[in-house]
Amino acid sequence: MDKKKVLVIGGGFGGVYAAKTLERQGRDKVEVELVNANNYFVFQPLLPEVAAATIHSSDAVVPLRQLLRRLQVRQAAVRGIDFEMKTVIVVQGSRLTPIELKYDELVIALGTSVDLKRFPGLREHALTMKNLADAHRLRNHVIGCLETADVTTEPDVKQQLLTFVVVGAGFSGVETVAEVRELLHHALKYYLNIRPDEVRVYLIEYADRILPTFPADLAEYATRRLRINGIQVVTGVGTKSATGTSVELNNGTVIPTSTIVATIGNGPHALVDALDLDLHWGRIKTDRFMRVPRHDGVWALGDAALIPLVEQPAEDPSHYAPQTAQFAVREGRQLAQNILAKIEKTELKPFAYTSKGSLASLGMSKAVAEVYGVKLSGTLAWLLWRGFYLQFFPGFAGKLRVLVNWLLNVVTPPNIVQVQATSPATRYIHYRKGDKVLEPGMVIDGLYTVIKGSLRLTIDNPETGEHFEKLFGQGDHFGDRVLPKSVLCTGLVVALEDTTVLWISQREFTRFVRAYPFLENYFKESSGAGARAQYSRP
Ligand SMILES: Cc1cc2nc3c(=O)[nH]c(=O)nc-3n(C[C@H](O)[C@H](O)[C@H](O)COP(=O)(O)OP(=O)(O)OC[C@H]3O[C@@H](n4cnc5c(N)ncnc54)[C@H](O)[C@@H]3O)c2cc1C
Repeated sequence: MDKKKVLVIGGGFGGVYAAKTLERQGRDKVEVELVNANNYFVFQPLLPEVAAATIHSSDAVVPLRQLLRRLQVRQAAVRGIDFEMKTVIVVQGSRLTPIELKYDELVIALGTSVDLKRFPGLREHALTMKNLADAHRLRNHVIGCLETADVTTEPDVKQQLLTFVVVGAGFSGVETVAEVRELLHHALKYYLNIRPDEVRVYLIEYADRILPTFPADLAEYATRRLRINGIQVVTGVGTKSATGTSVELNNGTVIPTSTIVATIGNGPHALVDALDLDLHWGRIKTDRFMRVPRHDGVWALGDAALIPLVEQPAEDPSHYAPQTAQFAVREGRQLAQNILAKIEKTELKPFAYTSKGSLASLGMSKAVAEVYGVKLSGTLAWLLWRGFYLQFFPGFAGKLRVLVNWLLNVVTPPNIVQVQATSPATRYIHYRKGDKVLEPGMVIDGLYTVIKGSLRLTIDNPETGEHFEKLFGQGDHFGDRVLPKSVLCTGLVVALEDTTVLWISQREFTRFVRAYPFLENYFKESSGAGARAQYSRP
């Protein structure tokens, strides 16, 4: 029997467990490929500990190639899906050339995005807590605030720097605020000019209680515990807007702060939102077997999907699988078995799973837990939390690394180095004579300006036989067509001599140009003229 090609897009809990099960149970029936933006799987429940410097950032992730040893892993960004042609379009590596991947069965496991546009200023000023880079950024940001607060002579600035606000009190908000508080607690003794009573930490929640998925008494315990640890828990109040120096709540309170962490605003993944899919609450509607209606061979799971748990679901979130790792793992296994059942022409099984419980860490060696209906709180719950996540963490090597991190923390001081690792928005690129700068079909990812040397653009149209050439000397630029959105290069750009080019990323270029109307007009005109020239001249 010819093997069917199963393409899994997204290497989080859902995608990884689906791929793993397909590989284990369907090796002779399917060829599996998993596409993920990074070459690692992120264990999201440990991200707050990465932010708190309890766990080294690379120890909260697992290389996908080690996790899925027998199947093809591709580090690439998914840019589009053609359901008619059963093709996924990805870009990979630095050449940014779109590549088409064929599939017989497609599993969409892309998770969700953070959508803060309802709150003016929050998108621009809030940190988020979704991936490894977010956790790393938060850790560096908090340490940076302490560094400046320790030496500033302006009381207002100091107060702002020492006020930390986390918005949203679900799992990730509660664990994030608790871990940030713990980091501050351990770090403060090294900052001689900061008194502990100068530090303020807030947890802001719109609902009238925190941890909505936990029983009320455990949520109350968690609130008390967070308050004992010095966190001001504010419930029943939403966030209205934010600036670089404050956050405004919808009861009119303005909190001066340099740190806002938003764990709210789960929105649809941008790609999912742009596709011809039926969405509800920002998630892809599936049937109980996790098939996506209207598209043959397409399945969805995890946070991205809205999977009914009952035959006739109503407008009630409890009728659908919740967005948790616990569910995503089970969905992955069931979905894989359903794909195999489809290939073998046997009966598919609806997804059914009942949560075994919930655990949330509250920092300072305390947690709340509800497991198989048994409620626990305090240190015992915290030990259970650690034991559970250690056992849940994939792979022996990964478990060992996490354990070593935890043990090291008992005997060593917190690691308060501020490691900055941001990719530059501009850079010089040197080309030798004859080097290709861009080729037809590559994604133009920014503005290129010639600083020294020269380049030649050639465009050949095989259908009409038209040939177009253009030279770029010092001060000339191309790529300004990326202003509205990234586009594909239609020609070949080659260095005519040793050449230096200034590259500005599309995002930064667009932001900068939009700030100056005269620049925006200039680039609109120049890109329009360029485009006209390219297509009209023989
Ligand atoms: C801070 C935090 C703490 C949490 N704590 C808990 C907890 O204690 N217990 C619990 O059960 N759940 C917890 N969760 C929720 C849980 O992590 C999610 O429900 C789970 O990760 C969902 O799995 P997923 O596979 O659907 O999505 P994700 O794990 O988000 O994976 C999506 C994957 O798709 C990839 N991707 C996205 N776009 C593209 C693209 N265009 N091209 C290629 N790849 C792409 C991403 O890189 C990512 O690897 C927590 C979440 C967070 C953020």
